[in-house]
Amino acid sequence: MKFNKVLKNLSTYEAGKPIELVVREYGIDPKEVVKLASNENPYGTSPKVVKKISSLAKNMYLYPDDSMFELKEALANKFQLDSKNVIIGSGSDQILEFCIHAKCKTGSNVLMAKTTFAMYEIYAKQVGAKIIKTKSSQHNLKEFSKLYKKHGADVIFLCIPNNPLGECLDKKDVYKFLESIDKNTLIVVDGAYQEYASFKDESKKICPKDLINTFPNAVYLGTFSKAYALGGMRVGYGFAQEKIISTFYKIRAPFNITTLSLAAAIEALKDEDFVQDCIAKNFEEMKRYEDYANQKGFEYIPSYTNFITIRFEENLVSKVVAQKLLEKGMIIRDLTGYGMNAIRITIGTNEQNTKLFTLLDEVLEELK
Ligand SMILES: *Cc1c(COP(=O)(O)O)cnc(C)c1O
Repeated sequence: MKFNKVLKNLSTYEAGKPIELVVREYGIDPKEVVKLASNENPYGTSPKVVKKISSLAKNMYLYPDDSMFELKEALANKFQLDSKNVIIGSGSDQILEFCIHAKCKTGSNVLMAKTTFAMYEIYAKQVGAKIIKTKSSQHNLKEFSKLYKKHGADVIFLCIPNNPLGECLDKKDVYKFLESIDKNTLIVVDGAYQEYASFKDESKKICPKDLINTFPNAVYLGTFSKAYALGGMRVGYGFAQEKIISTFYKIRAPFNITTLSLAAAIEALKDEDFVQDCIAKNFEEMKRYEDYANQKGFEYIPSYTNFITIRFEENLVSKVVAQKLLEKGMIIRDLTGYGMNAIRITIGTNEQNTKLFTLLDEVLEELK
């Protein structure tokens, strides 16, 4: 069968490997497997959220509230916006897709950093858009400006901070760049890790309200999958001026979030102390990774997120290191697919990180 030809050279997104796979393939007890591969919150779901969704199991025969009134209100209140400025997606991933579908067709230009969230490129290619990337791996706004002047763009993706590298642009530099962008270009600010960045350094904080009021062509994306510990629930949100949001609604399928996901997100927003506590621990534990890397002479990228990217010299192959760790029940992310000899590790709990250091020591010894 012939399919849409844009799909021919499109690669499939490779998600972090699930714990189930390691249990199946290497026969490791699931309790022994540690997953530090998908930037989930390692401290687990807030007990208040667990209690809430458990109580809802009996209501599953009903469709969810498609207006998502309560969650939109809660988000609008938290960020001092109006519900009209909010759209909910099945993960912020789905809203990335809305952004592309609202602006792009065959031949459209989409501008992004060389090494950034893989789904930007995948969604853009699905509609036949052309990808324009900077030469630098990390976000370099001078290069973004140059490329924008040369090619223009229908959509610009800025991942602040950036996954999978962890670096973070300064708010003032972002604003300066955005001032030079035509109002017909959709600017997507992906704030999946903004909770972490703004905790570490106030100058990185992007205020969604200020962003969308200053730039009518900007969309701010947030997710419940990372700091809010709801990766399994698939809830993300987009903020923008009403005109953009109402256009996204034309693309959205009804009931795109489940009843449980809605309830979990609403409850998670009420437990801000839990989230802040997790973020504080994250940066405490991050120091241990920096110390470890320094001690081994590995280069790492200073991170504003809940993960850290460590590069290897030629004497170590990241793919081999990741595979050997996997066989010992430790799941991390190899970045070979991004053209880097590097690994990305989600910062785990104190105990998980200790285990990672022990296992990585073993692997390094075996590869000597
Ligand atoms: C995790 C992540 C997302 C989206 O995650 P969802 O689970 O779909 O909400 C978006 N952007 C970046 C950069 C991410 O790391």
